[in-house]
Amino acid sequence: MKQTTRRSFIQKSAIAGVGTLIALPSINTLMAAGSNSDNPATPFLLSNDFKTGFDQTPLAYANNALEPSIDAKTMDIHYTKHAAAYSKNLKEAAAAEKVDMAKPLEEVLGSISKYSVKMRNNGGGHYNHELYWKSMLPNANAQPTGKLQTAIEKDFGSIDAMKKKLAEAAMGRFGSGWAWLLATADKKIIVASTPNQDNPLMDIAEVKGFPLFGIDVWEHAYYLNYQNRRADYVENFWKILNWNYVGERFNSI
Ligand code: MN
Repeated sequence: MKQTTRRSFIQKSAIAGVGTLIALPSINTLMAAGSNSDNPATPFLLSNDFKTGFDQTPLAYANNALEPSIDAKTMDIHYTKHAAAYSKNLKEAAAAEKVDMAKPLEEVLGSISKYSVKMRNNGGGHYNHELYWKSMLPNANAQPTGKLQTAIEKDFGSIDAMKKKLAEAAMGRFGSGWAWLLATADKKIIVASTPNQDNPLMDIAEVKGFPLFGIDVWEHAYYLNYQNRRADYVENFWKILNWNYVGERFNSI
């Protein structure tokens, strides 16, 4: 990727939050079977910065910028091979199933049961990875602040208790999938995990809500560096989690 592209993305990210707010379907609407994107009942407004398109967004950092938590080769293969394939296959499915790709992907995910398995796997795969890249920041070493901190402490007792639950969800996911911190429609913060490339926006998800961030626990996310040590990968993920971005997501709903 060209450095200029990264720089412009970073500049754009830096001013996130001052952009025009546009109405998107609420998570209630997205979660409802047969969701209707024309439904004006939207208690949540997501800013333009939080809607997801069908193409990959350029990474805001270099492949080696998240070391030692995530090594450069894993980042390279993960972004340019695995995640690129989800986007490509999603667009194929969207074209075949006559999805309007000018609309946010969130609309498709909210009624994913109406679409093909290819759409479910790749729509989820693309959304999940777009969120994953944005949720990480080189040398973040941060903690949640503001309303998000208050909400986590209210719902879990402490930040450490939340981290422990999320790590348990990541370790308890057998095979491939994701561990999530998400907000429910009434803004409670909870932990969940999903198999494969499913996510909490999907109408078929056991636990539904707005994903604040997700930890990819597919082996392709950590195996080169950590082999079977998923727990170490999860432990090191906290060091590169962009709590500022996660907090903006929470504040946006
Ligand atoms: Mn992945």
